[in-house]
Amino acid sequence: MAPTAPLESTPKVDREGKELTSCPHCSFTSFKPYNVAAHVKSVHCKIRDFSCDLCDFKASKKWNLRSHMKNVHEKLMEFNCKLCDFRSSEREGLVKHYSDQHSKMK
Ligand SMILES: [Zn+2]
Ligand SMILES: [Zn+2]
Ligand SMILES: [Zn+2]
Repeated sequence: MAPTAPLESTPKVDREGKELTSCPHCSFTSFKPYNVAAHVKSVHCKIRDFSCDLCDFKASKKWNLRSHMKNVHEKLMEFNCKLCDFRSSEREGLVKHYSDQHSKMK
């Protein structure tokens, strides 16, 4: 004899007793909170992660990634002319600049 428990407004739970988590924005539900978090992020948050191609850096805003690139990576491969404010990302560019602009000096 198994009396049925009165149906209260109990939260839905799975076999392991985990509560069902629901998306605050739509009817999506999951027993795994991280699934809901991932759902919210992919469906409701239009902000995409910008990730750096050169390292593990991630930014939520594009300008953050840009400033990261500039501060961390571009510096390493930037060649500055010591005689003017010319800059080049390639060594050859700076060498050419030197010979074009500054080699006339004797
Ligand atoms: Zn949703
Ligand atoms: Zn990076
Ligand atoms: Zn120069």
